[in-house]
Order: sequence, then C-alpha cells, then structure tokens
Amino acid sequence: MFRIYLGVTFLYSQQLLPGMKCNVCGGKIEETFLVKPIGTYVKDSKGKKHLICSQCQKKLPSKEQVLEKL
Ligand SMILES: [Zn+2]
Repeated sequence: MFRIYLGVTFLYSQQLLPGMKCNVCGGKIEETFLVKPIGTYVKDSKGKKHLICSQCQKKLPSKEQVLEKL
C-alpha cells in the first residue's frame, strides 16, 4: 500500500515540477504544498494549451484577453 502511494506521488510531482512558467508574464507558477500549480490552462484556437498564472488571470479575466497577450 505504501509503495503504491510513493509511486503515484513521484509520477505526479515529476509531471508538474520542471519549470512551470506563465506563458503571459514568464513568471514562475506558484505551487501549493500539494505540488499543484496555481494557474490555469487556456486553450487557443488551435487547441494548444497555455499555462497562465493566477496574477495574469486577475489582470486578464477573459480568455480572449489572455490569448491576445500570448
Ligand atoms: Zn503570469
């Protein structure tokens, strides 16, 4: 049971840790103690995902405004 738990944690943090940066301001995405990034993904018209930090989300409340800045 413990081994399964460790494996899941390892995969989860590996997926999220390597230099998560905001695609608008280039700032580092803050992480909670659960290693979950505080940010959102915005999809453009081509379906490409862009990571946006919480600060830029506040400045650019609509998806259209975010995409203009990319
Ligand atoms: Zn940002």
